[in-house]
Amino acid sequence: MAADDETIAPRGIDVHTPHIARIYDYWLGGKDNFAVDRAAAEQVIAATPTVKPGVTANRAFLSRAVRFMVGEGVTQFLDIGTGIPTADNTHLIAQAASPESRVVYVDNDPIVLTHARALLSGVTAPTSFIDADLRDTGRILEGAAELLDFTRPIGLLLIAILHCVPDEEEPGALVRTLMGALAPGSFLAVTHPGIDQLPDQMAAAEKALTDAMGYRVTFRTREGVGRFFTGLDLLEPGVVAVQEWRPESPPAPIKTGMWGGVARKP
Ligand code: SAH
Repeated sequence: MAADDETIAPRGIDVHTPHIARIYDYWLGGKDNFAVDRAAAEQVIAATPTVKPGVTANRAFLSRAVRFMVGEGVTQFLDIGTGIPTADNTHLIAQAASPESRVVYVDNDPIVLTHARALLSGVTAPTSFIDADLRDTGRILEGAAELLDFTRPIGLLLIAILHCVPDEEEPGALVRTLMGALAPGSFLAVTHPGIDQLPDQMAAAEKALTDAMGYRVTFRTREGVGRFFTGLDLLEPGVVAVQEWRPESPPAPIKTGMWGGVARKP
């Protein structure tokens, strides 16, 4: 199976190690994943069957958060941890709500970069992609400034990415650096797998993902996720299960394992 994957994979794509972007694509029902990714993804599903409704609810949160921000007058977005394109990518949501919206995408996975080229070809509204690691905030901010006006509010989207940065690398400091560069009135949206939602299942899922990928993911508590918003005005209803954040229709009574929230920079 891996030999087939090797033949069809774009050059430079490692088909022997599971990658989070491709695992996530599989959970969402996408086709841009390889045998190793599917095996890893299934191990996590075995640990917690909530993962599939969880990623779907996570995408729906992203849409609502972007539409909310556009409603507040924000038309510039910095989306770090883009993922493989799926339905309702950030620029489509933002530009549907406000055609002049500008979106800068950032990801460090080569397969996301490959797709980003296709994703952005034919897009007329200003959208760009930066091949960078979340930890490289200097490079992200410099690249984003080519398209976004930092004197006006920007919506920073950190959707299902911060668990990829362990505590000792201080993800909170990265968030503060990024938000520190944005104008007052900017927004931060975060979603994050919660270790305290379905604790046994999520602990097993965290371990399955870490073991399969060979790098550690850190699921956090609701309180830990809340700390990413330190210094900002956390908006109602606070950090909640993603499907409960300002739902547009009554949320399904399911556990998703994902926390989410939105804050405004004062
Ligand atoms: N934000 C999307 C995709 C989530 S999957 C959504 O919620 O639907 C997580 C994405 O973050 C993947 O595409 C992965 O490649 C990217 N990612 C993980 N760690 C990263 C890092 N340190 N720097 C940049 N991107 C990262």
